[in-house]
Amino acid sequence: MKRIAILGSTGSIGVSALSVAAAHPDRIEVVGLAAGANATRLAEQVERHRPQVVSTAAGAVLAAVLAALPAPVRAGLEHAASGAEGLLAAATHPAVDLVLFATTGTTALDAVFAAIEAGKTIALANKEILVMAGGLVMAAARRRGVAVLPVDSEHNAIHQCLLGRPAAEVRRLILTASGGPFRSWSTERLAGVRPADALAHPTWRMGRKITVDSATLMNKGLEVVEARWLFDTPADRIDVVVHPQSVVHSLVELCDGSVIAQLGVTDMRLPIQYAFSWPDRWDSGLPPLDLAACGRLEFGSPDLDRFPCLGLAYRALRGGPALPVALNAANEVAVEAFLDGRLAFTAISRVIAGALDDAEESGPPDPMTLADVRAAHARATRYSRRRTGELQSKR
Ligand code: MG
Repeated sequence: MKRIAILGSTGSIGVSALSVAAAHPDRIEVVGLAAGANATRLAEQVERHRPQVVSTAAGAVLAAVLAALPAPVRAGLEHAASGAEGLLAAATHPAVDLVLFATTGTTALDAVFAAIEAGKTIALANKEILVMAGGLVMAAARRRGVAVLPVDSEHNAIHQCLLGRPAAEVRRLILTASGGPFRSWSTERLAGVRPADALAHPTWRMGRKITVDSATLMNKGLEVVEARWLFDTPADRIDVVVHPQSVVHSLVELCDGSVIAQLGVTDMRLPIQYAFSWPDRWDSGLPPLDLAACGRLEFGSPDLDRFPCLGLAYRALRGGPALPVALNAANEVAVEAFLDGRLAFTAISRVIAGALDDAEESGPPDPMTLADVRAAHARATRYSRRRTGELQSKR
C-alpha cells in the first residue's frame, strides 16, 4: 500500500491524482489533502477519500470545509490545519510515504524541504519549485536518499527513458513541445493575441497560467530548467523539439546515437500513476495509444525569434543562480498582467529579459541559500511590476 499526501488536491493535477487513487483502492491510501480556496471541492474529496490530515490556505476556508462535512467524516479527521502549518502537517505526516506537490507558485517551497527531511518520496508537478531552488532541492534529496519523481509529462517521459542508465551513456535530453496555439503565427499577429486566444491550448487541458506559458513557450523554458536539475544535465545537452501532436512525450539520445522515446495518450493520469507506482507499473485502465489513428507525427525546431521566452530560459541557465529565479518571478508577474489585459502578449518576454539584466547586476552568492533565493525572487518581482507598469503606460 502506498500512502500518499496530495498538496494542491483541487487543481487539475490534484483531481487527476485522486482519480488514479480511486482506480487503485487496494494500492493507494490517501492520508493527506491540502488545497487553496476551493472549499466545496475539498469537502467532496475529504468525504470520498477520508484522509487523516486536511489543510487549506486560509482558516476561513478550513472552517467552510469542516462545516460541509458530515459529522462522522469530520470525526475521522486526525488533524485539520491551515496556511504554512497545514502544508507542513500534510507533507510530513508519519503515515505518508509519498507527497505529490501539485501546488502552484512558491507556496510549497518549505513543505518540499520538510518532506525530504522526513524521508518522503517526492512527486513533483510544481515547476516553480525546481526552477527557483532546483540545486538545493536535489542536493537535499541526495543527502537524505529520497527519490524525486517528475510528474510533468516530459520529465516523466525522460525519467522512463533513462531508467537504470549510467549518466556516461546519455548524450542529450530532448524535450518535446506542442508549440502552443500560435505555433504558426507571425510576430505581427502575435502582438495582438488576447487572453482568450492564449487560453485555448490544442492538446492539454490545464490551468490558466501554464496555458499562457505554453503559448509563449516559457513553459518549455521552465521545463529546460527543471530538466537541468532533475537529471543533473547541463543546458547545452538539453534540446527542445516542436511536436504538435504531443504523442511523443520526450526522448533521450544515448552515446551510441540511439534515441529512446516515451509515447502515450495525452492524459496526466499516466505520469501521475507512474510516480505513484514507481518503481513498479500498474494497469492504468486508460485507452491504449492508437498509432494508426495518430497518423502523422511531426517534428520541427522552435522559432526563438517569434518565441523569445525559450531562449531567455537558456540564457538564465547559462548565467548565475539568481537568473532562473528572476526568469520565473518575472514570468509570473508578466503573465498575470497579460491575463488582466494590462500587458501585450509580446511584451511578456520584454519584462523577463529586463528582469534577467537586473538579476545579473545583483550578484548574489553562488550557490545561493534558500534565503538568497527568496530575496532574488522578491527583487525580480519588484522589478517586473515596475517594468510592467512602464510598458502598460506606453500601450
Ligand atoms: Mg510539461
